[in-house]
Amino acid sequence: MTMNTFPDRLLAGYSQFMSGRYGEESDRYRELADRGQKPKTLIVACCDSRAAPETIFNAGPGELFVVRNVANLVPPYAPDGSFHSTSAALEFAVQSLRVRDIVVMGHGRCGGISAALNPGATPLSPGDFIGQWMSLLDPVKSEMQSGALADGQERQTALERVSVRNSITNLRTFPCVRILEKRGKLDLHGAWFDISTGELWVMDAGSGEFVRPEQKQLDQSLANTARAEAEEDA
Ligand SMILES: [Zn+2]
Repeated sequence: MTMNTFPDRLLAGYSQFMSGRYGEESDRYRELADRGQKPKTLIVACCDSRAAPETIFNAGPGELFVVRNVANLVPPYAPDGSFHSTSAALEFAVQSLRVRDIVVMGHGRCGGISAALNPGATPLSPGDFIGQWMSLLDPVKSEMQSGALADGQERQTALERVSVRNSITNLRTFPCVRILEKRGKLDLHGAWFDISTGELWVMDAGSGEFVRPEQKQLDQSLANTARAEAEEDA
């Protein structure tokens, strides 16, 4: 019997994981296995290999419930019997896990967004799954045709952020999201990660504009998190 070989890089990485991080966090893994997961945050992120939420937010096992798809899109609520993988993940995170926050995180140089800006390109396969998926942005692409954004890079960044806002709008078409948000039990957030500089931009809930958190806000978050973890351990 011929077997194709499992990629060396993955086996090597697994070996390093077992002798490193798993060893340090084995108690946590065991506890999570016994008690089940209880992540507080759902993150909708892109498949892009450079924008992994667990890495960017330095998250440990059990902390983030992550759904990744091309260009981190949330489709509108559509109970039509089709195969809705993102909606299934959303349903589970909100209704079963009862996450407290949902974050839609876009990123710079997103290939999916680039495809949406160049809809005339030849599909990668007869199915044109990317073209069909990215047509979710058709309703908001008109926001990009103002002419004010001549530069291709600016248009790309602008659509990456418009798209995050659009996904948050679509999140609110899901009855469970809308109801829990109204009751103050669920908060929706937008973020955008610049893969070339490592900058994180966070969407202002009121204006929809993206701003970089100030250092004092990051320091405050570190202090708050350390305090909450100490209280949990006590
Ligand atoms: Zn992307």
